[in-house]
Amino acid sequence: MAGKSPCPVKNCTKARNDNQLMCLHHWRRTPKLLKNAVWDTYLAWGRVVGAALETKHAAAVAMRDAQRAAIAAVEEKERNETLRSLL
Ligand SMILES: [Zn+2]
Repeated sequence: MAGKSPCPVKNCTKARNDNQLMCLHHWRRTPKLLKNAVWDTYLAWGRVVGAALETKHAAAVAMRDAQRAAIAAVEEKERNETLRSLL
């Protein structure tokens, strides 16, 4: 059974399943291109089992970068909404 962890998006109080990057609310708010990048790099990472260490490392870095970009995009979207609501 998958456990739960906090959603990594700033100020989010929701939980995510351990096999998910973020809570469902924020995943739905992630731009499609970045969602695709998260999936593509995750699948690529799954395909390098047994590959050379450098190949596995490169795949892990690509996956981490895609995840960070997705989280950053959602945070920026919310920051902009907060700013607009203050105007
Ligand atoms: Zn969240």
